[in-house]
Amino acid sequence: MSIDDRKRDLRPATRLVHGGTLRSPFGEMSEALFLTQSFAYPTMEAAEARFKGEDPGFIYSRFSNPTVAMFEQRMTLLEGAEAARATASGMAAVTASLLAQVRAGDHVVAARALFGSCLYVVEDLLPRFGVASTLVDGADLEQWKSAVRKETKLFFLESPTNPGLEVYGIRAIADLAHESGAKLVVDNVFATPLLQRPFELGADVVVYSATKHIDGQGRCLGGVILASQALIEENIHNFLRQTGPAMSPFNAWVLLKSLETLPLRVAQQTASAAKIADFLAEQKGIARVLYPFRDDHPQSALAKRQMSGGGTLVTFDVEGGKAAAFRLANALEIVKISNNLGDAKSLLTHPATTTHQRLTPEARARIGVGEGLLRLSVGLEDVDDLIADFEYGLRAACGS
Ligand SMILES: *Cc1c(COP(=O)(O)O)cnc(C)c1O
Repeated sequence: MSIDDRKRDLRPATRLVHGGTLRSPFGEMSEALFLTQSFAYPTMEAAEARFKGEDPGFIYSRFSNPTVAMFEQRMTLLEGAEAARATASGMAAVTASLLAQVRAGDHVVAARALFGSCLYVVEDLLPRFGVASTLVDGADLEQWKSAVRKETKLFFLESPTNPGLEVYGIRAIADLAHESGAKLVVDNVFATPLLQRPFELGADVVVYSATKHIDGQGRCLGGVILASQALIEENIHNFLRQTGPAMSPFNAWVLLKSLETLPLRVAQQTASAAKIADFLAEQKGIARVLYPFRDDHPQSALAKRQMSGGGTLVTFDVEGGKAAAFRLANALEIVKISNNLGDAKSLLTHPATTTHQRLTPEARARIGVGEGLLRLSVGLEDVDDLIADFEYGLRAACGS
């Protein structure tokens, strides 16, 4: 039994420290950064065998690279997937996972509440190549059901959603996809691989922006696609290899090392997010707080069934709309204004004027993005300092 087979029995924190490690003859303890484009073959016969697939070694870093392979292997062990492929960004992972599985004439059904660029891929890009798409209210199973056509090949969703933190029943949607002969792709960024396990809920493909919690310190872009060996080999592998959205070995090295601390960071950020959500809910000037594990969240029971924590994001509505939301954000000193998330630094964004600016006011309203809505990504600062920052900001913004 290989060491990584044994690692499948180990708990996630252990797998994230040891899984996938490939050691060079030097026996380095910390995983090596193989910053190389290509690989030398000892003989022409060896090169021939490698291209024929008879020898599993590396060929070219657009195809595969030892540092990238370590990252991919560590991700498969974390996710409980058979195979993974890393990409240059989360959007490269989403785009490849969708495009590689469809052809002209096919149809995709997706939840309307998608990360802005994911919405572009589904709504604008796929139809340009003859792949029709239908957007549905992800919480309404009937809408998924009635959107299905005989050409439907894929279902696509994010849960919890951005920025409304709506939670969708992944199990029921996966069952419906399979009854319809379609596959379910889940963008699991907001939940993180630790708090939600989409494969156990029936997903066929799981994608991440590794830029977010997996890096966790705001440095590198990256993405990853996880699925069965067969799906990766039949659909994803060649698409990535020939079109080239490869992850840089340097980024793979940063992300690989970050996986070692992912459980610590996500646990801490989730605990802080829950505490900040409860704090904000008590404040004058805050109309509503959305946090999946709070009892006042509309899908809290579902969230508690399918997630093991409420996540690191908190969304809330400030009374007084855009002006009050801007005053609050501008008054904060520790919490920074940024559209990113999953960073060690707490980040606050106003979706209506940034990430969701492209949408019409009606489209924003349909996914609950109002003028006073703010999305907070909770970082690794001391939670009491974050709460004090909000107390100060709220006094400045609302005079409370
Ligand atoms: C950030 C993000 C993406 C895109 O990832 P990049 O690494 O920025 O390309 C896709 N989906 C979700 C939910 C995200 O948060």
